[in-house]
Amino acid sequence: MDTQHTPHCGDRQGLRRCPCCGRLLTTDDFYVNARTGRPDSRCKDCRREASRIQRSRNMLSESGKKRRRRVVITSIADRDTRLELIRKALRTVAEIRRLKRIRLAEEADREAEKEPDE
Ligand SMILES: [Zn+2]
Repeated sequence: MDTQHTPHCGDRQGLRRCPCCGRLLTTDDFYVNARTGRPDSRCKDCRREASRIQRSRNMLSESGKKRRRRVVITSIADRDTRLELIRKALRTVAEIRRLKRIRLAEEADREAEKEPDE
């Protein structure tokens, strides 16, 4: 009878299983903690993914905080109040855009003046 076994990868030296993705990887696939000199528990891919998620979570909570301070126009029940607020918001947006255009034009003029005339 054939009793051939597939050698278990975990028994081989220099291999670590990442508890996060479950892959068996070489120590090269793990970051080494500069402070302890020991390899990270999670592989590089998982570590990168974890920090990416953490970053986007931070961004989301940041924008979430900002959003909560504002009144959510569409959640206002009264139709007239809602329309008035929307009109006001649109006017504000138009005004900001107009001022921005003026400022940009002024800046462009100033930049043009600075250019030495040759
Ligand atoms: Zn992993």
